[in-house]
Amino acid sequence: MIIILEPDLGEPARVVDTITAVAARYPGVEVRPYSFSGTQHSFTEVHLVGSTAALPTNAFETLAGVLQVVRVSARYRLIGRHASDHLSVGFEHNGVRFDERSVHVFAGLCAVDTREHVDATMAALARAGIVTTRMGAYKPRTSPYDFQGLGAACLPWVFELAGKHGIKLVAMEVTDAAQIAEIDAALERSGRPTSVILQIGTRNAQNFELLKTAGRQRDFPVLYKRGMGITLEESLNACEYIASEGNPRILFCLRGVKTHLGDPHRNLVDFAHVPVVRRQTRLPVCIDPSHSVGIRAAAPDGLPDLFHVVGQGVIAGASAVLVDFHPHPELALCDGGQALTLDQLELLLDYVRRVRATYDAAVAAFHGQERPDRQSERRSG
Ligand code: PEP
Ligand code: MN
Repeated sequence: MIIILEPDLGEPARVVDTITAVAARYPGVEVRPYSFSGTQHSFTEVHLVGSTAALPTNAFETLAGVLQVVRVSARYRLIGRHASDHLSVGFEHNGVRFDERSVHVFAGLCAVDTREHVDATMAALARAGIVTTRMGAYKPRTSPYDFQGLGAACLPWVFELAGKHGIKLVAMEVTDAAQIAEIDAALERSGRPTSVILQIGTRNAQNFELLKTAGRQRDFPVLYKRGMGITLEESLNACEYIASEGNPRILFCLRGVKTHLGDPHRNLVDFAHVPVVRRQTRLPVCIDPSHSVGIRAAAPDGLPDLFHVVGQGVIAGASAVLVDFHPHPELALCDGGQALTLDQLELLLDYVRRVRATYDAAVAAFHGQERPDRQSERRSG
């Protein structure tokens, strides 16, 4: 059972104490409070675990400060969206907000290679007004003989250049817990000119120790890539691991699933799951067209397949797009074949804005009235 307190309560601890006292009347019930800072409000929830079947909901519903009591039917206790729960909690990090109201584009290098390429890429982002990028330093590669990324050595100048170009958030994959500390130390040494969202890649989608470490630290949010060969449910359970360790700031990223049925694309594009993740969880959803499609081919209309699948994700309400760019894709040390060129950046951003505007208009037209999720925010806000 989950007891959702009214948002922005002055003293949630007092309500938690009252709930604890009421719950103590029932044997075998454990009380676990959780607090979240959303993009608009702060929330506290009290989870009652154990022998909760006999608990009457009205024992808690009538308490002052309680907004709603939900019997948990979903298995995702923390990340799950429960019955009649339309809250779009989202999160904010270093001034960048992720929720259902906007779309951020993390455009950048799959793998950091040279200072010049990072500088040119970030300069293009700054000209376009983008403050989010992707920069891979630790690369999980299929072959041990392929470029493995520059690792910790490149962090000082990547962060320095991010600061120079006003980049607030760098999506950076970690493949080992020790790299989180390396990133934090490099940020500290460079005076924290930017920040990082820790990417957990598809190959580590069920590396439970890494997931738990990313959940225990509170310095960085997590961009979780769905597992390429596991069910959506298994990937969502992996996110529940991160949240259950204390870090609910998770951006869930779809990146295609491994099957030859996706040929000639690198993976089978799975952006039909955008509304599913939005319905089943409270997590903002990201799409990665680059690792889904994996090639730069274009349709007869001239638009790359990469653009078309971005459209599929954004029209379904995605909150972020993670996409490979490179100033010279032919020189890229990793995934050059799927990188867009910098002169396509403005085109992509314009395309995203147009599709998102169509999505907003289409949703409004569908309802012909106020959206159910916005009604709930008004009631609770
Ligand atoms: C990446 O984004 O660089 C990457 C390796 O992606 P994935 O884990 O989805 O393959
Ligand atoms: Mn890649």
